[in-house]
Amino acid sequence: MKALQKSEPSEGLWMTRAPVPEIGPDDVLIRINKTGICGTDIHIWNWDEWAEKTVPVPLITGHEFAGEIVEVGKNVHDLKIGQRCSGEGHLIGKTSRQSRAGKFHLDPETRGIGVNEQGAFAEYLKLPAFNVVPLPDEIDDEIGAILDPLGNAVHTALSFDLIGEDVLVTGAGPIGIMAAAVARHVGARNVVITDINQDRLDLVAEVADVVPVNVAHEDLKAVVSKLGMREGFDVGLEMSGNQIALDQMVERLVMGGHIALLGIPPGKSPVDWSRIVFKAITIKGVYGREIFETWYKMIAMLQNGLDVRKVITHRFDVGDFKDGFLAMKSGKTGKVVLNWR
Ligand code: NAD
Ligand code: ZN
Repeated sequence: MKALQKSEPSEGLWMTRAPVPEIGPDDVLIRINKTGICGTDIHIWNWDEWAEKTVPVPLITGHEFAGEIVEVGKNVHDLKIGQRCSGEGHLIGKTSRQSRAGKFHLDPETRGIGVNEQGAFAEYLKLPAFNVVPLPDEIDDEIGAILDPLGNAVHTALSFDLIGEDVLVTGAGPIGIMAAAVARHVGARNVVITDINQDRLDLVAEVADVVPVNVAHEDLKAVVSKLGMREGFDVGLEMSGNQIALDQMVERLVMGGHIALLGIPPGKSPVDWSRIVFKAITIKGVYGREIFETWYKMIAMLQNGLDVRKVITHRFDVGDFKDGFLAMKSGKTGKVVLNWR
């Protein structure tokens, strides 16, 4: 089969031929139709310090996918050949305290497809049946291929009650934009999203009815008073990984406000802890998706009017994968989807 692989410990990915994976009794084989390119794939492409210490070579990359089941293991009875699906790319252990308590997303043994294990940038993917998420007819393959990052957005956005609340999202990357759309969908009052990249902020208007603010030029405090918020935002969703954005969020939050942190800072970064203590702020770190509550809620919202399709700005056939990665690296795109068939 064709597979997009990290073949050498250096910059780039290579289109190679690999054997179709052999499945075990508890697995399924999925024929891949569409995949999404993630920021993580860009780190792997660039072969930065994180990638170098995390990713084994050679490895088939990719973890955002939609496809169709073409083979089921002998212990798999609840999934059928022909079923369209996406799936959770975090492979979890079953023995940790957290897993045994049903908190699968907190399992410390988690391994990621396309990062630690063979991934989805291939014609076929082997996945434990446990990880499969069947797709209803209303959710087509290109939306199926971005459910992983939409899941990050949903997990973060649903961390705290947003109904009637004023919400600040920092970072208008694909995940930030989708989180803003989710906040709007579930009934937040004001939703403001910040970035310093105008291309990203222009895309916001296409996807969600929220207020984009370019903090390179605009004063967030002035926006807060213009919107009639007396004291500031109730909830912050940090989606940039940028220290200045986090500081700004802490500054613009109400006393007793809540922050969900998804953005990953590049290294250790200084935090003004006393400000957080005196404002009595609650902070929650968010990793991945809740398995499988996030998937359940996300699919339900998509079936009930949440529309994030316009966050997909570029589509390429997989033969043109280099153009897809170049587009992503430009920082001007939303999601980039590769078509495998
Ligand atoms: P992205 O890099 O596409 O978007 C980040 C955005 O933040 C960019 O548009 C950038 O211009 C903007 N930004 C930079 N400085 C800013 C500032 N001072 N104020 C406001 N915005 C600023 O990333 P993405 O794919 O949308 O992902 C969002 C974040 O979530 C990233 O940090 C990513 O690494 C992280 N992530 C975490 C998890 C997890 O499980 N915790 C999963 C996926 C992604
Ligand atoms: Zn991803």
